[in-house]
Amino acid sequence: MVPQIEMGNGLRLSRIVHGHWRLAGWNTRGKDLLTMIGQLSEMGITTFDHADIYGDYSCEKIFGDALALDPGLRARIQIVTKCGIKLVSGKFPGRSIKTYDYSFGHIIASAERSLRNFHTDRIDLLLFHRPAPFFNPSEVAAAMEKLHKDGKVLNFGVSNFNPMQFMMLQGHTDLKLVTNQVELSPWCLEHFDNGNIDFFLKETIHPMAWSPLAGGKVFNPSGKKGSGILKELKKVAEEMGGCTIEEAVYSWLLKHPAGIIPVTGSGRIDRIRLAAAATALEMNMEQWYSIYNASRGQELP
Ligand code: NAP
Repeated sequence: MVPQIEMGNGLRLSRIVHGHWRLAGWNTRGKDLLTMIGQLSEMGITTFDHADIYGDYSCEKIFGDALALDPGLRARIQIVTKCGIKLVSGKFPGRSIKTYDYSFGHIIASAERSLRNFHTDRIDLLLFHRPAPFFNPSEVAAAMEKLHKDGKVLNFGVSNFNPMQFMMLQGHTDLKLVTNQVELSPWCLEHFDNGNIDFFLKETIHPMAWSPLAGGKVFNPSGKKGSGILKELKKVAEEMGGCTIEEAVYSWLLKHPAGIIPVTGSGRIDRIRLAAAATALEMNMEQWYSIYNASRGQELP
């Protein structure tokens, strides 16, 4: 059974989160999707990651329509979604370029649209999707406080922020930002170097890791870096008793003391099961560093 992790504010997420960025391409709808959500929550994967914009604004509603088929299920899962990016889309005529919008009005309207899409009265966790060059933290904080006071959003966090951007927003509100969802994997070590991982450890913030399998690139690497990582993952997987490459990757993320929460992206239940299985595996320190070194292309100094 996949364990849960305490995020602060009483929010608990599953240690593995299932992401729905690619949902529109899975051709899984209605009862089939409901079955998948039910199977995942039975194995302890109870948290589902979305964004308003996924699938050209379609994924939240596909998920919500499935959820509505079993009204009892909502109480057993946590819904994470995001706002802040405005795409050029036929659904919103009049937009001519992509922008980021963190105005009070847009944050409230986006959250309310998400609630309608999910057929629910509350979002467990709303993330501000990307840092923006035009961002007024006191206006964002006012929107957070209104949504929280109205019971529409229970918790807030950010995504793709650096520590300074995180502190900038946190400095304007008493509502605790509970996470930062960033790209983290053996292919993406950026947050080990930009201060984010150190900041998470200092503040006891558990980051959510998007694209843990580098969007599938792990299996078909191009170039020296990717081939080096795959070779090392195969070796470590063998040493760990013949586990899969996916399990080795998830295990690498789960081992870290920051409490990294992998956000899986597969549409296949058998592949998501591998992330669940990894919560019971233990990688040793040498194996962890051998994967880290393979990504950096050099040994530790
Ligand atoms: P990922 O797990 O790195 O990649 C998933 C992709 O890998 C899918 O296309 C999947 O295809 C493929 N895959 C998995 N196992 C495979 C295998 N054994 N062989 C070949 N292909 C395989 O995750 P991701 O989808 O890129 O991202 C995960 C989630 O993170 C998203 O759904 C979203 O919720 C979130 N996200 C957030 C941000 C952000 O800015 N905050 C950005 C990107 C993503 P199959 O479906 O066929 O298995």
